[in-house]
Amino acid sequence: MSVISKIASSHSFSDKALLEVLSDDKYDQELFSSADEIRRSVYGTDVYIRGLIEFTNYCKNDCLYCGIRRSNSDCDRYRLTKEDIYGCCEEGYSLGFRTFVLQGGEDMSFKDDDICEIVYNIKSRYPDCAVTLSIGERSRESYSAFKSAGADRYLLRHETANAEHYSKLHPQSMSLENRKNCLFTLKELGYQVGSGFMVGSPFQTLENLVEDFKFLQTLGPDMIGIGPFISHKNTPFKDFPNGSLELTLRLVALLRLVFPKALIPATTALGTLHPNGRELGLKCGANVVMPNLSPVRFREKYELYDNKICTGEESAQCRDCLDRRVKSVGYKIVTDRGDARTIK
Ligand code: SAH
Repeated sequence: MSVISKIASSHSFSDKALLEVLSDDKYDQELFSSADEIRRSVYGTDVYIRGLIEFTNYCKNDCLYCGIRRSNSDCDRYRLTKEDIYGCCEEGYSLGFRTFVLQGGEDMSFKDDDICEIVYNIKSRYPDCAVTLSIGERSRESYSAFKSAGADRYLLRHETANAEHYSKLHPQSMSLENRKNCLFTLKELGYQVGSGFMVGSPFQTLENLVEDFKFLQTLGPDMIGIGPFISHKNTPFKDFPNGSLELTLRLVALLRLVFPKALIPATTALGTLHPNGRELGLKCGANVVMPNLSPVRFREKYELYDNKICTGEESAQCRDCLDRRVKSVGYKIVTDRGDARTIK
């Protein structure tokens, strides 16, 4: 049995097998077609869309890779008003979105009550929609309050599962331990949880990626988001090379093999790295895309990394463009909340 069919049939891996597949392009063809086969057996050709609302770029954190880090004084800061946010949802709903993702920097001027009010209002207006939060690390009490207000899902990438590597990417005030605790808390509270990591972040080794897979196995997330690291000109990592397209695609495909039912986005970072990055991601096992619903005048300001795509077009144009892109590789965007088929 080939190394790929072993992983695909057991949904598990040995460290050696994973390292081998990650470091040699001779497996790519079988790997990618096997991932697509599994994706089609679980989700058919359906692609789920999530309307991303980047509602604030204020952040109290100082992650070394991130363009909206606190120390970037060149970053032009903005916050959407609650009415702006509801406006994004209204437009998104009419375009067929049934999931809204509220993402932002860690902006403490949005108090728990504010987040709860926003979530509650969106859920009341659109009871057939899921609301996902992606606002970083907060306390159990906060997460619990957001859940009670109606939040369904939470995205919090672990970024890297190796503590030493984590400390090279983040300021001392942050820790992998806390990040992990947040993720387990979110699970306990009944959220559908998404985690993930950057590919090719500074100092990352292939062994680190094996650790990422093992951590994800322990967590059992519903969603797994990965994308290449892309440098940002106003960060300490400005001179580091971007993550590689090939390695990202291999990892997307391997995630599909190991986590057959996971929701895996073809990320904006992948689309930024290569003009057809998202299409390639879909062909390698991804089944979600997350276009931007933020008002166009703010989009360039949510600059996590250089040259981020889709900052100039209105949401409706983005939606049409994505429709065409997804069709071009043989899949179909569906109007659906797009919940995960439960893992295992
Ligand atoms: N404050 C939230 C949202 C962070 S932005 C939180 O802490 O979860 C969402 C994701 O963008 C991050 O989790 C990170 O993985 C990714 N990201 C940030 N900077 C990036 C960069 N330079 N290149 C690629 N991805 C980046």
